Amino acid sequence: MSGTRPDFVICIHGGAGTISRDTAPQRVALYRAGLAAALEAGQAVLADGGLALDAVQAAALAMEDNPCFNAGKGAVYNSQGRHELDACLMDGRNLACGALAGCTVIRNPIRAARRLLETSPHILLAGDGADRWAHAEGLDLVANQYFDDAFRFEQWQKACAADAVQRDHDDAKGTVGAVALDRQGNLAAATSTGGLTNKKFGRVGDTPIIGAGTYANNASCAVSCTGTGEQFMRHVAAYDIHARMTLAGSSLEAACRQLIDRTLQPGDGGLIAVDRDGNWQLAYNSAGMFRGVADSHGLFSVAIWED
Ligand code: ASP
Repeated sequence: MSGTRPDFVICIHGGAGTISRDTAPQRVALYRAGLAAALEAGQAVLADGGLALDAVQAAALAMEDNPCFNAGKGAVYNSQGRHELDACLMDGRNLACGALAGCTVIRNPIRAARRLLETSPHILLAGDGADRWAHAEGLDLVANQYFDDAFRFEQWQKACAADAVQRDHDDAKGTVGAVALDRQGNLAAATSTGGLTNKKFGRVGDTPIIGAGTYANNASCAVSCTGTGEQFMRHVAAYDIHARMTLAGSSLEAACRQLIDRTLQPGDGGLIAVDRDGNWQLAYNSAGMFRGVADSHGLFSVAIWED
């Protein structure tokens, strides 16, 4: 990053955890291309002078439609062999938020989160109520099988055989998220996920919980988390970064390091964050994190492993 404050910044993640370095180069290329396409989608909005909120939505949408990632198409299977999706969008300008938990037929939960943010007095809709509201709103609906993916099915079968909720650290999780600072100084955050493989049906993670997996406030920062949701909920992780900055005067970096290195347990996961001065963090304590960052100075970078 150059010394001057960038006019805009976008960070994305495609989930904490990683894939083996022996993974077929073609598959690695697919992940990298998916990250780059999402980063480009968000960057294009910001470069045009668009809103951080639109940029994070565009980036998350690109990854929801990409089966490489555990969000939208390609979401993991729950204990019933079905998909229950969570998503959240937050606007740092006015703390407006929209979130869905456990939805099963909404093609793009991040779009539904945006609609909720803009049109409803409510912040969070869950389960059948979320699905029915989306239907009434005329949002794009699909059969639950639309989210099926052979790779995720195999992961689920292994998790069932081991009677485990999958969160091993050598395996990609694939939750997606984006945070951005726009040219007007606005911050926004988006997160979308299928949750954890073989999760109990009805289980809701940190992603749609404001302050846990997702938070944005123009006064401080925008944060999107990925990892073992229960840990991020317990420690109110995303809001913790905001609180350290506003109440204790911490820098973004110090606040993120405190959370990732000291509050959370090794292997819990990671986060992406950007502050109102254009500082950014891609921090994790898992084996890796699918991630990317771009800014107005020409920075454009995606990574999977620690390299
Ligand atoms: N945080 C998500 C959840 O617990 C999963 C993930 O990020 O991989 O639902």
